[in-house]
Amino acid sequence: DGPPESDLAVARATDTRPIEAVAADLGLTPDDIEPRGTGVGKLTLDAVRSATADGIDGTTVLVTGMTPTPKGEGKTVTTVGLGQALAALGESTTVAVREPSLGPVFGIKGGAAGGGYSQVLPMEEINLHFTGDIHALTAAHDLIAAALDNHLHQGNDLDIDVRRIDWPRALDVNDRALRETVVGLGGPTRGVPREDEFVITAASELTAVLGLASDLEDLKARIGRIVLAADADGEPVTPSDLGVTGAVAALLRDAFRPNLVQTVEGVPALVHGGPFANIAHGTNTLVADRVGASLSEFLVTEAGFGADLGAEKFAHIVAREGIVPDVAVVVATVRGAKRHGLEMWPTDFDALAEPDPDAVRAGVDNVRRHVEIVESFGIPAVVGINVFPDDAEAELAALEEALAAEGIAVARSTAYRDGGDGAVDLAERVRELAGTGEFAPLYDVDEPVREKIETVAREVYGADGVEYVDGADDDVDRLEEWGYGDLPVCLSKTPYSFADDPSLTGVPEGWTLTVREVTPSAGAGFLVAKTADVMTMPGLPAEPAAEKIDVDADGDITGLF
Ligand code: ADP
Ligand code: MG
Repeated sequence: DGPPESDLAVARATDTRPIEAVAADLGLTPDDIEPRGTGVGKLTLDAVRSATADGIDGTTVLVTGMTPTPKGEGKTVTTVGLGQALAALGESTTVAVREPSLGPVFGIKGGAAGGGYSQVLPMEEINLHFTGDIHALTAAHDLIAAALDNHLHQGNDLDIDVRRIDWPRALDVNDRALRETVVGLGGPTRGVPREDEFVITAASELTAVLGLASDLEDLKARIGRIVLAADADGEPVTPSDLGVTGAVAALLRDAFRPNLVQTVEGVPALVHGGPFANIAHGTNTLVADRVGASLSEFLVTEAGFGADLGAEKFAHIVAREGIVPDVAVVVATVRGAKRHGLEMWPTDFDALAEPDPDAVRAGVDNVRRHVEIVESFGIPAVVGINVFPDDAEAELAALEEALAAEGIAVARSTAYRDGGDGAVDLAERVRELAGTGEFAPLYDVDEPVREKIETVAREVYGADGVEYVDGADDDVDRLEEWGYGDLPVCLSKTPYSFADDPSLTGVPEGWTLTVREVTPSAGAGFLVAKTADVMTMPGLPAEPAAEKIDVDADGDITGLF
């Protein structure tokens, strides 16, 4: 085959299977899926219900990673490649990944549907609009915002404090100009003027709600308890107070149903949901995981960023809802390790161009620490080295040998270039290790909020302690008073370091985690502890991917990686 020319070239050259045939691999009939264009089907609600009615038998493989660079170290590529390799070994397998947000598609990272011979298809549709789930989330989010401002305009019977509204507006495009804004200008017919902000849809609590809901009733219950604002007495105001829970759930009815597609090699893939991995839990929907793990022997699913963020949140937030990883893959790269060895700023890509096995060796600590985090939950781990075309053999060997010398299971993956064939070694290690651990979270949810935060800061991030600034202490007191103290915590931190400072590479020691704000995501079911300034509305880079994307007269899209 040779190395892939581009993701799009591979996608175009692939003969896909009819989606009904892919569904049949999962024991689903044509009636169980509603076709949404070529190669895309939405599971019917009945199919979801019967698939999730009984317990889960399948083995769950969690793909996580080392501290990434902003370009991504290849978790999605490895997830898809590993799924293809397990299928090639004769295991019935489902891959589950998030739906790409338009932000990264047009920003720095590009599409998020995998790449090369390890991607999910149809890539243009998946990257742009797909089945409309993210648009539905945007509309549902903004419906709540509109209802809230309308309530103010109509007389504010709930006595909402306009200075204490925490429900932003949402948009699925990176647009830094909307980070802080003012709405309701223009006089009495235009509403009540107040400060407002926009978040990217992936950062909306509704995206997290959809990601964790187990059925439509649960979806409604979660929507109804989202905290939008405080009233004059300081009590929470919710969508249920505004009377819009049903309408919001109705907008999300179809978005709740997982989307079935296939990988380049025809393996079933559920592409569903897309919460951030900092202010939210960062993985595809729970319902997709439950469907995949009950309809096939292996479910391979991805959690965002490194193990400090994605795997920790999977263990403390997602696993509580019923999907427990049996084994994890920690994706590592030569460039990722080199960045730590050279102690570089995360975006300093030019400095990574020269082969430098010593720098790779010096960066191995970071990978090992992510493995330890996974193992601290009782989840056995194998490092998957995602091989890039420019990696020097001496660098790959340095990474592999340094890990193996410490007794860490490691396998190279060339799944980007070779598809499932390139991840067979990794798949074999995954099969050997699956189920050899015993899962246990690091904290109990009924511990006090500060203790839970402290546990994550110390035991996962390696901090010496936690400092609360800017009223974060009061936030915790108020949340405990409101009765949210027994929710798990979701720490929002830069993905580019274990610490809360992206310039600190390797395994930083002797630092204190600063918590600036703690807010309830009561609908999703966790408390968000924000460390540094959290980017909930990214900006576009100096040369956005958008400048390279085009469509011709025949409707063919180019430039999507
Ligand atoms: P993650 O899920 O960890 O963020 P992705 O799998 O999305 O990372 O990969 C990030 C980008 O790098 C994608 O554009 C992907 O196609 C590309 N990529 C990943 N692995 C390789 C590889 N081995 N060779 C070339 N490109 C790769
Ligand atoms: Mg990814």
